[in-house]
Amino acid sequence: MQGKKILITGGTGQVARPVAEALASDNEVWCLGRFGDADARKALEELGVRTATWDMATDDLEGLPRDFTHVLHSAVHRGDGHDFEETTRINAVGTARLMTHCSAAESFLYVSSGVVYNRADRTHRYRESDPLGGAAPWLPTYPVAKITAEGVVRGLAETLGLPTVIARLNIAYGPYGHGGVPMILFREMRRGQACAVPREGQNYCNLLHTDDVVRQVPLLWGVAQAPARVVNWGGDEEVGITDLLEYLSELTGVPVRLDRGDYSRETAIFDHDVRRGLIGDCSIGWQTGIARTVSDLFEEYRDRIDEYVAAHGAETTK
Ligand code: NDP
Repeated sequence: MQGKKILITGGTGQVARPVAEALASDNEVWCLGRFGDADARKALEELGVRTATWDMATDDLEGLPRDFTHVLHSAVHRGDGHDFEETTRINAVGTARLMTHCSAAESFLYVSSGVVYNRADRTHRYRESDPLGGAAPWLPTYPVAKITAEGVVRGLAETLGLPTVIARLNIAYGPYGHGGVPMILFREMRRGQACAVPREGQNYCNLLHTDDVVRQVPLLWGVAQAPARVVNWGGDEEVGITDLLEYLSELTGVPVRLDRGDYSRETAIFDHDVRRGLIGDCSIGWQTGIARTVSDLFEEYRDRIDEYVAAHGAETTK
């Protein structure tokens, strides 16, 4: 993508930061946020990204240019688990302000989540038309935030005639920010903590490496339409979380302890037909992606991972 004027929210986050960085060389990229992480802001600016302070809880967008061609709305207020009023208001109003401000854009991409689905079955491949109403016992406000914002996005896409995609993201991971759920689990392993898994079987997900996120964002912009299009957005492969933990242990030598109990953070797998039909397959296999990510984030395991990868034939960037 070249020569476009792109507005990104959540540009300091794990998902949108690599997109902002990748697009900055050939496009005019703006990132909005609170920028509590001053280093992230500085690093973005050093790459040519323009930054503007915007707290979607409180701020309007007065003074910001309106002639953006493409918008990536990745910022989220997940809430503290109890503040439903505040969580719905912040995500709904922030999203509405952004869409009305950028109503002349060619394309608006809202990053939603698979957490919106009513996930009753660990092995069901959720389709875009499946029942909504996801619950997240670890953070009850989060699915409400995402469903509320999706409603606003649908409403404004249609009333403004703004071509839009709602991309329901599975689990993104990669060398940015906290690294995503796989690296959060790996940190638990390193601390000697037991990882919560189901009493029987395992949870499954579709891990999506941030390199694929970066490659697929312009493709998703390219299929935006009004009324909004809804697309499941995850990696091609179905990955068992217990398999992932065991692979991390094999790669690094860090032992894994499984806590087989009644509570584990459930994940979901997607049906990919819509995504495949619109933007094609992913390019990074999960084992290669995980090896690279650990290597990037935890230098001390790099040599061991290189040896493992050489012995097992997978590729790594290091
Ligand atoms: P992060 O937690 O890494 O980042 C959140 C971003 O939101 C930050 O850039 C933050 O910027 C911004 N933000 C939070 N509150 C506000 C606010 N009040 N005003 C303006 N900006 C705000 O999130 P991820 O990158 O992990 O997630 C990005 C999107 O993807 C989210 O919408 C999330 O729901 C969705 N998603 C992510 C998944 C994943 O695996 N990571 C899975 C499924 C969905 P700052 O602090 O500078 O204001």
